This record gives sequence, C-alpha cells and structure tokens, in this order.
Amino acid sequence: MKCLKLKEIGSLILVEMPIPETKPDEILIKVSHCALCRTDAKMWQQGHRDLLLPRVLGHEICGYCEETGKSYVVWPGKACGICQQCLRGAENLCSEMRILGFHKDGGFAEFVSVPKSGLIAVPEELPGYIACLAEPLACTLNALKQAKVSAGKKVLIYGGGPVGLLMALAVRTEGAEPLILEISSSKLRKSEAFRTRVGFEQGLECKMSGFDVVVNAAPSSDILSQGLSKLATGGCFCLFSGFTAKDSVSTAVINEIHYRQLQMVGAYGCTYNQMERALQILLDFREDIEFLIEKRIGLEQVPSVIAQVLSGQAMRFVVELDKRSRA
Ligand SMILES: [Zn+2]
Ligand SMILES: [Zn+2]
Repeated sequence: MKCLKLKEIGSLILVEMPIPETKPDEILIKVSHCALCRTDAKMWQQGHRDLLLPRVLGHEICGYCEETGKSYVVWPGKACGICQQCLRGAENLCSEMRILGFHKDGGFAEFVSVPKSGLIAVPEELPGYIACLAEPLACTLNALKQAKVSAGKKVLIYGGGPVGLLMALAVRTEGAEPLILEISSSKLRKSEAFRTRVGFEQGLECKMSGFDVVVNAAPSSDILSQGLSKLATGGCFCLFSGFTAKDSVSTAVINEIHYRQLQMVGAYGCTYNQMERALQILLDFREDIEFLIEKRIGLEQVPSVIAQVLSGQAMRFVVELDKRSRA
C-alpha cells in the first residue's frame, strides 16, 4: 500500500509498505479521508513529545471496513481502561496512551489498523471529508469542558483558523457566546463565507474585556499575556495550543493570575465520547463545515502544502484516499 512516512524531522516521503497486520482487538480500515492538521506539520518541522519515528502520520481519520462496508471515524487513542484517568472518563490522559499517527502508524495510508474500541460509526448522510474533522472538533469540546464553558458565558478565541472556527461552533452548541480574534486579514477573508453562514463575529482586534474564558487556538505565546488581560476577574484561560522551547512566561503574567485570582487549565486531545458528540455537531452543520475545507488533495500532494499549513494561511486540507466512504 501507499503511505506517507515521516522518516525523520523534515523528511516526509511517499513509500510502499505492506498492508498492516491486525491484532485480535484491531480491525483493518480502508482510509477514505484523513485531514492534515497543524500538529502533523509541526511534527515534520520540529517533532512532538508523543511522536516515535519513523512514523506514518495522520490522526484525523475516516474510513471503512471492506468486509462489512461500514464507515467509521477513529478515536485515535488506545488507553488502558483501568488507570485512574481512564476510570474517571479522561482516557485522553491515560499514562499508557498510544496514539495513531504518533506512537503507531496513522491514516496517511491506504490502510490503517485500528483498535476496535476506537471506532465510531459515521451516519449515512455525513461525507467522509467532513466526518474526519470529528477529531479536531472533539479536541475543542474537551477544551471547553476543562474551562467549564456553559450557557451564557462569554468566550474569546484567539485564532480564526479552521480549529478556532470549529471551537466557536462548539461554544455556540454549549449555549455560550464566542468571539474570535484573528490578526491576519487574509485569513479573515478566507473564513468570511463560513462566518457569514453561521453568523460569527470576528475581528482583527478586540476592545472588549471581561470574558469568562479565553482560549488560544493560535501558536503565538503573546496570546497568554494579552488573553489574561481580556479575562474577567476570576476568569479562566485555557491553554489549547502548547508553547515552543523559545517561549517564556514573565513574572507580570504570573502575578496577574495571582492578584486577579485567574484560573489556568490545559487541554490535550479528546475522549471517545467527545468524538461521538463532535460527529453529531458535524452532521448538524455539515453544509457550513464545507467552507472550512481548503481543498481535498492526494497523498502525494501533502509535502507540497506543509509550508502553507505552518504559515496558518490555509483552511483545512483533507487527504482523499478513496472517494467511496460509505456502504
Ligand atoms: Zn489534529
Ligand atoms: Zn488508562
């Protein structure tokens, strides 16, 4: 089968590999679509804490079982099921966690071997190139859960890329009010069609403050100090994007958290249940979500768009491996 392998940092190549063998608790999935995420691009550029090389990347996977014809999206983790985190329903934090496209070969391949426990059936009406966004949408649901976003709360999202926009949709489904801040006017133009459809306010700057929750869905570390100043006293900053090694945090930032009794929460990955919910949201908004897709591309085109993904100037690229995505 054809697959896209990250051999080492900076070297992503199309190779032939045998179809993966499946263990008794796994199933062979024929990949129909796998979305290309900023995390994949960052892995190519600088690696990742959870990445074991060489690796077939891709963790936003939709595909089907050739024997039954049934379509699935894939919760990309495999958790132990018995540790404290698993038992409290936070299996994304399992210490034994193995993630497809990180620890194990992922979805930028014609076939992927998936733990049966990670399969979520895709409703008939949902095309595979939309369904594969269940994973990033679920990650935003996890962030909102950690930040205790509930009805009536005001949420400021830094970053108006596809994930920031998915997060705004998730905020809306919680009954809360999202505001998106995006510093790039070209990106604002890109997202205009989607924003107009769903009626999201978005601007290049934000004069308002007093937000209950601020989330960073963009890479700049300056967002931390700016975002804290936008919070209501006692508000919550959710660290959705990680910092890089060259970022640092000042004493002024720490003291603002202290004096204004602010809260900080982290969010990483998503749970199986959050992906099930994400799939329902995608179904409800499927016609709008179309506008978050930059382009459907072939596996061989991925290396040529990586720089564009890193620049943050594109909506979501989805790799289309098989147009047939359902029974
Ligand atoms: Zn991702
Ligand atoms: Zn566990």
